[in-house]
Amino acid sequence: MAIAIVLSGGSGSRMNSDVAKQYMLLKDKEILYYSLKTFQDSDKISHIILVARPEDIDYCKTNIVEKYEFTKVKKICAGGKERYNSVYNGLCIVEELSDDVKNEIVLIHDGARPFVTHEMIDKSVENMMLGSACTVGVPVKDTIKIVCEIHGELFGKETPDRNTLYQIQTPQTFRYELIRKSYERMLGDVNHNITDDTMIVEQYGGMGCGIIMGSYTNIKITTPEDLDFAEKIVEKFL
Ligand code: C5P
Repeated sequence: MAIAIVLSGGSGSRMNSDVAKQYMLLKDKEILYYSLKTFQDSDKISHIILVARPEDIDYCKTNIVEKYEFTKVKKICAGGKERYNSVYNGLCIVEELSDDVKNEIVLIHDGARPFVTHEMIDKSVENMMLGSACTVGVPVKDTIKIVCEIHGELFGKETPDRNTLYQIQTPQTFRYELIRKSYERMLGDVNHNITDDTMIVEQYGGMGCGIIMGSYTNIKITTPEDLDFAEKIVEKFL
């Protein structure tokens, strides 16, 4: 069995809304509801740790966890300034669980990605029989350029082979000890430049990661256009 850390500690400033994006409604449910529901219903997940902004913890408890009877949510903890601070706070809660639980597998998921599927969770957990880290991702559709700035102008410098490029999503799944130790090393390095949890394991745990096929509908809701697309996905698939 595995533990899911679901991140809801961001402010969603790019959404231009008074309500944090994860609590905006999609059809008639909060964005955060959808991924929590999938983890709650998954037979691979035993515990969920929800990470929220300190000021949203009471709201999450009453209006999300209790309202929808998400009984696997064992703890709602406070997030931190950056996403990686929030992940680390969630990992510290895993540390408080009993040894047989924490020796297992941790899935880290953005609460702003409502369309995680059972197949993604199942394949991610099954992948832990082969390795210690994996992520959901999809092949990039566009050509990607590495750019640089010269005298204030942008220039395309290099074009990596598109067949080798994947766009990385969540959930990202790890053996608990590996992600915890990699995080501790990363936090001790003042010069880190981290945007992703598998990147932490690559750089501070010396481990590559397996790739699980994701979906172009497993979007992260960041801007108002994403919400329009998410509404279409809900109507069509859910
Ligand atoms: O900001 P971004 O869209 O990259 O956030 C990805 C996920 O990480 C979101 O679900 C957001 O709530 C979460 N997050 C967090 N703590 C932060 C920043 C982001 O839990 N400090």
